[in-house]
Amino acid sequence: MTMIHVIKGDITRLTDVDAIVNAANSSLLGGGGVDGAIHKAAGPGLLEECRALHGCPAGEARVTGGYRLPGRYVIHTVGPVWRGGGKKEDEVLAGCYRNCLEAAARKRITSIAFPAISTGIYGYPKERAAGIAVHTVQSYLEEHPGKIEKVIFVLFDDESLQIYKELMKKRGRV
Ligand code: ADP
Repeated sequence: MTMIHVIKGDITRLTDVDAIVNAANSSLLGGGGVDGAIHKAAGPGLLEECRALHGCPAGEARVTGGYRLPGRYVIHTVGPVWRGGGKKEDEVLAGCYRNCLEAAARKRITSIAFPAISTGIYGYPKERAAGIAVHTVQSYLEEHPGKIEKVIFVLFDDESLQIYKELMKKRGRV
């Protein structure tokens, strides 16, 4: 069974994962929040590789190298901007998690760390986003056993950490 961990921290500091996920914007050319932190830690090579990708639609994922980051890969995904819930935000957010895991499996990446996609600048309600994150990842892992060995949810603040911990407890995984 895949191990699912919930930790608090800076995703750019993780040393024990093949890939970290970036909550990017659709240009893939960097931004604030976790995106800015990832580009800063990875160095200019990452931006150069991203430029050649010519963007990414919301809900999809693109894989690049990790450059100066400890992990070998960055999986960039573009979360939905929260617009009240009636603009398919939930489907797009679920697509982000699913497409990142699919991209990882295709590259034979066996360990992956996710930030709380869309819950910063993009304004998604934290509880709702966490429910989608945990449900989508667990469903994917159940449907595709034996591919991903470890998933880490990396939360940046105590409130998000508590939300994820409660959710995992309810689902019997922590
Ligand atoms: P979005 O535009 O998708 O909302 P943000 O980067 O603004 O992306 O925020 C996504 C989440 O990532 C937020 O919960 C934010 O607190 C968190 N975050 C910001 N910096 C880091 C980091 N270095 N490591 C992990 N999570 C981070």
